[in-house]
Amino acid sequence: MTNPIHIIGGGLAGSEAAWQAAEAGVPVILHEMRPVRGTDAHKTDGLAELVCSNSFRSDDAQTNAVGLLHAEMRLANSLIMACGDAHQVPAGGALAVDRDGFSAAVTAKIEAHPLISIVREEMTGLPPEDWDQAIVATGPLTAPALAEAIAKKTGADALAFFDAIAPIVHFDTIDMNVCWFQSRYDKVGPGGTGKDYINCPMDKAQYDAFVRALVDGQKTEFKQWEGTPYFDGCLPIEVMAERGVETLRHGPMKPMGLTNAHNPTVKAYAVVQLRQDNALGTLYNMVGFQTKLKHGEQVRVFKTIPGLENAEFARLGGLHRNTYINSPTLLDPTLQLKDRPGLRFAGQITGCEGYVESAAIGLLAGRFAAAERLGRRVSAPPATAAFGALLNHITGGHIVSDDEPGKRSFQPMNVNFGLFPPLEPGTKLKPDDFEGRFRGKDKTIAKKKATTARALADCRAWLGIAPEVRAAE
Ligand SMILES: Cc1cc2nc3c(=O)[nH]c(=O)nc-3n(C[C@H](O)[C@H](O)[C@H](O)COP(=O)(O)OP(=O)(O)OC[C@H]3O[C@@H](n4cnc5c(N)ncnc54)[C@H](O)[C@@H]3O)c2cc1C
Repeated sequence: MTNPIHIIGGGLAGSEAAWQAAEAGVPVILHEMRPVRGTDAHKTDGLAELVCSNSFRSDDAQTNAVGLLHAEMRLANSLIMACGDAHQVPAGGALAVDRDGFSAAVTAKIEAHPLISIVREEMTGLPPEDWDQAIVATGPLTAPALAEAIAKKTGADALAFFDAIAPIVHFDTIDMNVCWFQSRYDKVGPGGTGKDYINCPMDKAQYDAFVRALVDGQKTEFKQWEGTPYFDGCLPIEVMAERGVETLRHGPMKPMGLTNAHNPTVKAYAVVQLRQDNALGTLYNMVGFQTKLKHGEQVRVFKTIPGLENAEFARLGGLHRNTYINSPTLLDPTLQLKDRPGLRFAGQITGCEGYVESAAIGLLAGRFAAAERLGRRVSAPPATAAFGALLNHITGGHIVSDDEPGKRSFQPMNVNFGLFPPLEPGTKLKPDDFEGRFRGKDKTIAKKKATTARALADCRAWLGIAPEVRAAE
């Protein structure tokens, strides 16, 4: 009899990982603490409980990155997607589900699988060493004793208990006729060029209006489970603005050491800086702009920043409790802890964000562990597929900042097109719904369609599924 894989946590990631490993023919023991011990957000003892919204977001596999991830997961025999599809409720282009029906279906499938046993117990430490294949999928609300054990194993600053995130912008939506590349005082620093930041200039009137908009903007109220205090090092931008009109100009928006390349003789009154966020250079984060403004307000207020009028956001800012590890330094490309082979992490604890992304990383971890148990080659998904794009973000695609020692640059993120490698030069874009030259939005849509077509073809090849037969074009 093959030794089992132990999976800790029966949420979105753990359930999917268990399913994938068992479907590959490997026995699984799934350890889930509910109902023995609850969390601040879960309300039932069902597996794969959706703790907040009931939406898996867009189901459009052609022009939406999470829709593409749905499609790839369906190709990979995902339990989460199968149960989501079976319990869909009407929600326009989104895939929303009946949460109770969905969770009950996942629980029933896992309980009925002949190779899976469920143990209802809290794991208070890391999996014992004699569990040679194990996956920790205990989520953003990992119970404290295990969280402490993980922190001890991975280093004191490896686990973030408090998550302050700043918005991230798609580079190709930033107006570089207004903004310019420059590091403060042209500092080259280790690994830099002196032109590592994108700078957005503001005059006094723009700055004053911006500060007012931040102070007046609607904020998200902290929920009861979000009682964690925040520290001065990561104050929300609107809290700084409330401390005085000049505070931001002496903080993240200081103009010193910067010369507007488009207008060198006029000193900007304030500057918003963006820093490259991923190795591909397709995403930039707004430096020091962690915020708890409501999402709609963030879009409205941040689009008043010169150069960001047409910005599209890969992620908006927020503040909430979140337990995740510093995966890029701790995990190898198959989600294994580098200094303990056989111990994998999956789900939101790895630094992905969202139900679907958590399940997708569970799917990969389950497959990797099963392949290893069966003595097969563990093959990572191609970077051009949503699976690979997401995995690369977690295990190494982000940029480590040299100028803010002590601060972490790795932040949880939903899947988005900024994580994909750009299309190969010369890729032919197809005019599906329109004719003539591609411009603006049409071009963006055509590029997304080419990216998703490439992703699905590469994902099929990775999974060993025959290419899709398409009608003659
Ligand atoms: C309050 C909140 C709201 C969110 N809302 C949304 C949303 O609306 N949409 C969205 O897409 N994402 C949302 N997320 C983010 C994220 O997608 C979900 O948290 C998602 O459930 C993560 O999947 P997971 O499998 O990693 O963790 P979970 O689904 O949380 O599963 C982890 C499981 O591990 C168990 N567990 C924890 N510790 C132990 C232990 N020591 N021993 C045994 N079992 C343990 C837990 O009981 C749980 O069942 C939210 C997160 C939080 C915290």
